[in-house]
Amino acid sequence: MVRHQLDSLMQMCERPFSLDENTATDAKIYCHISVGVSYFPTNDDEVTGLLTKAEKALHYVKQQGGDDICWYDTAIDEATAGSLQLEAELRAATTENQFVPYYQPKFELATGIIIGFEALVRWQHPTRGLLKPIHFINAIITHKLSFELFSHMAVQIAKQLSTWQQQGFCQHICINADAAEFSHPEFSEMVSNLLVQHRISAHQLHIEVTESSLIQRHANVKKQLTLLKELGICLALDDFGTGYASLSYLQEYPFDFIKIDKSFISNIDTDRTQHAIVKAILDLAMALDMQVVAEGIETEQQRDVLLKMGCQQGQGYWFGKPVPAEAATEMLIQQYAAK
Ligand code: C2E
Ligand code: MG
Ligand code: MG
Repeated sequence: MVRHQLDSLMQMCERPFSLDENTATDAKIYCHISVGVSYFPTNDDEVTGLLTKAEKALHYVKQQGGDDICWYDTAIDEATAGSLQLEAELRAATTENQFVPYYQPKFELATGIIIGFEALVRWQHPTRGLLKPIHFINAIITHKLSFELFSHMAVQIAKQLSTWQQQGFCQHICINADAAEFSHPEFSEMVSNLLVQHRISAHQLHIEVTESSLIQRHANVKKQLTLLKELGICLALDDFGTGYASLSYLQEYPFDFIKIDKSFISNIDTDRTQHAIVKAILDLAMALDMQVVAEGIETEQQRDVLLKMGCQQGQGYWFGKPVPAEAATEMLIQQYAAK
């Protein structure tokens, strides 16, 4: 009976409805619902125990994306215990400076000159060693720690830019941001304060947003991107071509750069389809007055093909892997010494 009622409720929520049937608006309201359920006496024979277990089931279903019903099971205890520990570790990581930026050079394809760096987060985990984002970035988003990560990275990057400036290196650094980070109302203000505090100009900081994160349509993204753009910060659409609405994002948001995802570069020297897709992206960018960076260049042949096609900027293991700040500085010293 309970199951039947819950199923009907979920079905109702899947249908859009209008707030007021008489108003002349065609706005649809979608209601999202997540439900956690525990059974008496199978799961517990006391009210408090039952409520705690229903709450655990609810927490679990929300973690999995929500919009569903979850029936309590002992396996949930194990899953949530692991997740709670990870959340505690991630929170500690932000306060104990365990997130460090690694820097991957971006270079001019024709000359091999470094034109900037992309900062990529690494987690210096106290027991598991240096971790790449694949091991924790989803957990950061799930536990709503994106803004903390961004703030933490942004401070270190601003300091690095300031140090390079004092050493006579005029560079820019791109910082990655998930669209969830922009929904924070103080996002652009925080960035603006950083620029003033570390005496760096806005054009030295680029922000990359992945296509996949834009799909969730977080509130404030457009407003915050526009404010950043007004500050003079360059905005890049990362992993272009891998999302669901690549073209509409170009129309909707004020991007300056397109970063072609490495999946379109891997066989560009042999695969006609990849070649045609990249050509179309380059033509589109030119028509829109946007710049293009090709990601994931691993061979000289790939660089040559891209250069021939008119692509001017790139990144990839062929030129340089992400490295700690000291190694990135060493690259700049060598480049300037060779001039
Ligand atoms: P991304 O921004 O597209 O960064 C490029 C990724 O490709 C990096 O992986 C980089 O190490 C890797 N890569 C670069 N050149 C090559 C190549 O030639 N071949 C191959 N196979 N891979 C290459 P990484 O560092 O593991 O980062 C993965 C993703 O995690 C990034 O993709 C970005 O979306 C996200 N990410 C990284 N740092 C941050 C951060 O501080 N904040 C947020 N929100 N996301 C981040
Ligand atoms: Mg990126
Ligand atoms: Mg990318």
